[in-house]
Amino acid sequence: MTRSFSLLFSCIVFIFMLTPGLSAQDCTCDQCSGTGWEPKEERCNVCGGGAKITCIRCNGKGTELCTFCFESGVVSVYCSSCGGTGKLNNETCGTCQGSGKVNEPCSNCDGRGRLPCGRCGASGTEDCTMCFGTGWKTWKYPCSKCGQTGKMPCE
Ligand SMILES: [Zn+2]
Ligand SMILES: [Zn+2]
Ligand SMILES: [Zn+2]
Ligand SMILES: [Zn+2]
Ligand SMILES: [Zn+2]
Repeated sequence: MTRSFSLLFSCIVFIFMLTPGLSAQDCTCDQCSGTGWEPKEERCNVCGGGAKITCIRCNGKGTELCTFCFESGVVSVYCSSCGGTGKLNNETCGTCQGSGKVNEPCSNCDGRGRLPCGRCGASGTEDCTMCFGTGWKTWKYPCSKCGQTGKMPCE
C-alpha cells in the first residue's frame, strides 16, 4: 500500500470519527494504523524464496533459437566462384555443382544454430518478478487486533 493511500485512509477514518452520531470512543488501531491490514513479510510463493525462476524465454535452457539460420547453423549464400549463376566459363561451376548457391556457417551464431538467451544471459534463470529477486514478499493480512475495522475503543 502506498503512503498516500494510507494517508488518505487515515483522513477518511478521521472524518468518520468526526461524524455526529458515531461513538466518540473509537480510536485508530495502533497495530495497523487504522488501515485494517497488517503487512507481513513471508517467503515468496512463486520462487519459493530462491529469488530466481526459470527464464520464460528459453525455458531454462540458457539458449534460444537463431532466427537467422533457423537453428540449422548454416545459411545459403550465392556462390562466390560463379557469382550465383551456376556456370563458370560456360561449364557447370564445381564449387556449387551448378546450383549457384553454397552453404556456409551462420555468422550470427557461429554455426551453432543457437544463441545465448538474450533475456537471462544464458543462465537459464531470471529474477523472480513477484518478489523482485529478493525471495521475500510483503503481504497484507487483516488486522488481528481490531478485526479489520481499523478502530479500537479508546482507553
Ligand atoms: Zn519470488
Ligand atoms: Zn544461426
Ligand atoms: Zn558456383
Ligand atoms: Zn533465458
Ligand atoms: Zn488494526
